[in-house]
Amino acid sequence: MGKKFAWSYTALTGYETCPKQHYHLKVAKDVREEPSKAMKEGNRVHKALEERVRDKKKLPGNLSQHENLCKRFDSTSGEVSVELKLGVNQNLEPTTFFGSDVWLRGVLDVIVTKGKLAKVFDYKTGKRKPNSEQLKLFAAITFASYPKIERVDTAFLWLNTHEIDKASFTKDDEDIIWREFEPRVEKMTDAYESGDFPARPSGLCRGWCPVRDCKHWEPKDS
Ligand code: SF4
Repeated sequence: MGKKFAWSYTALTGYETCPKQHYHLKVAKDVREEPSKAMKEGNRVHKALEERVRDKKKLPGNLSQHENLCKRFDSTSGEVSVELKLGVNQNLEPTTFFGSDVWLRGVLDVIVTKGKLAKVFDYKTGKRKPNSEQLKLFAAITFASYPKIERVDTAFLWLNTHEIDKASFTKDDEDIIWREFEPRVEKMTDAYESGDFPARPSGLCRGWCPVRDCKHWEPKDS
């Protein structure tokens, strides 16, 4: 039996990109990924927005363009939570993020709940790319965590361009979403059970991957 299995959207997509890289970074943890400049900037922006929306702390000057967005959360009539860490067990019931039975973890940048409606917002600091799957999973984890919620409106907020990608889901979509993820998560679960994490070479091998002793790794300029 391998390491106890719990997943997140980021872990799943990382595993699918290259199981071997995922193994070294997240299972054996014998390789560390140095945060890139873009990752550090993303973390800085997320932290500043978290403190602004939750604590009303003034945004740093170079992020003041996001004040109008934050004001919209100030004036909402719903209940606002930021950087909310959710955990769901294998029966799709709520548990805690670090609970012993946690099976899926998700972090919501902002969630606004009012009656049977939840609105989930995810800040994006990179280049805009469509990704309806992550929005679906935000909705599913929200339905599982808030049994009274019947509709979830999700949105990516692209902070650099002020673009928004939206998707709405009803309770009827919940089973469909879980079924879509099931075969993918099963494959990942099998890898944890068997300890088999094969290499999946891609453009990442050209100097971008931190697993330098992999036989597929080559320097950027080769
Ligand atoms: S070098 Fe390529 S194949 Fe090897 S672990 Fe990294 S991404 Fe996977």
